Amino acid sequence: MDNMIGADQILQKRKTFMFPCTSHFYKQPPQMVRGHMQYLYDEKDTPYVDFFAGVSVVACGHCNEHITRETVKQVETLQHTSTIYLTQPMVDLAERLARILPGDLKRTFFCNSGSEANEGALLAARLHTNKRDFIALDFGLHGRTSLTMSVTGIPMWRTDPYLEKNTHFIPRPFDGGMTLDEAAEKSLQALRQVLAEKGDTIAAMIVEPIQGNGGIIVPARHYFQEVHALLKQHNVLLIADEIQTGFGRTGAMFAMEHFGVVPDILSMAKALGNGTPIGCFSTTDAIANSFNRPSASTFGGNPVSSVTAMAVLDYIEQEKLVRRSHKLGQLLKDGLLELKHKYNFITDVRGMGLMVGMEILGDAPQRGAEAVDMIIECMKNRGFIIGKNGVNRNVLAFQPPLVIHESNIRRMLSALEDVCTGGHAWLYEASPAK
Ligand code: PMP
Repeated sequence: MDNMIGADQILQKRKTFMFPCTSHFYKQPPQMVRGHMQYLYDEKDTPYVDFFAGVSVVACGHCNEHITRETVKQVETLQHTSTIYLTQPMVDLAERLARILPGDLKRTFFCNSGSEANEGALLAARLHTNKRDFIALDFGLHGRTSLTMSVTGIPMWRTDPYLEKNTHFIPRPFDGGMTLDEAAEKSLQALRQVLAEKGDTIAAMIVEPIQGNGGIIVPARHYFQEVHALLKQHNVLLIADEIQTGFGRTGAMFAMEHFGVVPDILSMAKALGNGTPIGCFSTTDAIANSFNRPSASTFGGNPVSSVTAMAVLDYIEQEKLVRRSHKLGQLLKDGLLELKHKYNFITDVRGMGLMVGMEILGDAPQRGAEAVDMIIECMKNRGFIIGKNGVNRNVLAFQPPLVIHESNIRRMLSALEDVCTGGHAWLYEASPAK
């Protein structure tokens, strides 16, 4: 690329021409120029192993050749008609999703992003139940539209000061001071109470099976089964937001499978397009049939996104990425747990498959957030892109493309150990090694 302007000018243009609400990682951010599978390259062609996959999106790898080839073929053939004309890729994708979705989830509505998918799922629940309100978990994240923001429980992402007050938040089934079973019981207790008092006004409860932005939170195995049973008693639907967890990320095609629960509605986005914008939600015949008033998304189900998504599903299946995520996830988690045993400042390691979080200084989260920023900067300088999340932004997030190699993980763990051990007096002072 001859016209590359470099990181400084990109920052300047962002500042001048874009909204100040968006932020970026790193004190010295590189300009990312190209990607190939698990690697990203900056303007100097320095390679980085990507352990964040563009926030859990690029599961099949950057610019995956198989997916790119299929996408380009479709771009050259027919790009857009809107759903008012008949095209085949959209219906083929819907049929394909029905085959891999759990239980009797078989009807799909296509749109363009995660927020839009959840917005539609919430609307479908209202139309089916004829009820208005929602239940959501503290510290969940479901999107940026008004309705999805109103069910988002992370204060920093509730940007709109005038959100509708139609959501009942209950504690999430995780609390640093409790066992998972105790935290699940606390959450279920609150759910029982809300349902007893308000059940006849509540359309749905929306959950992430494993909270992503909230810090990679895996509930006790029985939690969602009990949630679903309680909701059913009050004709309240369960919406599983699998936008971050879907398509093999957690070592199952969908994370709800780990909990043995088939939700009433399941929303998807991110990895389904491997970088191409797509979102959708799927449900049963009965619920879909209640959504019969007109609705349409101009780009939803367009031939290009649909063909890309089918190529993604082909690739996940052919390369057995779900199993790979499970297997390599274990290696990653075990390696991070070993580090936890060595360093006091690592207060938790949690996750499933290739969705693993490492909490830093959980007992002093503000310092933990500063430490996380320092660690991701040092790791970037060593050629590894690590994410971060958590309510207090003190959780390192490891969510690499599922095509990552064992050797990438081993090298990253060794670099992380170096960063934890050497050179960072500040971290040491914060909490000496055990
Ligand atoms: N739900 C979850 C669980 C997410 O992680 C996100 C985005 N990080 C969204 C919804 C919103 O998706 P989008 O940014 O595509 O609108």
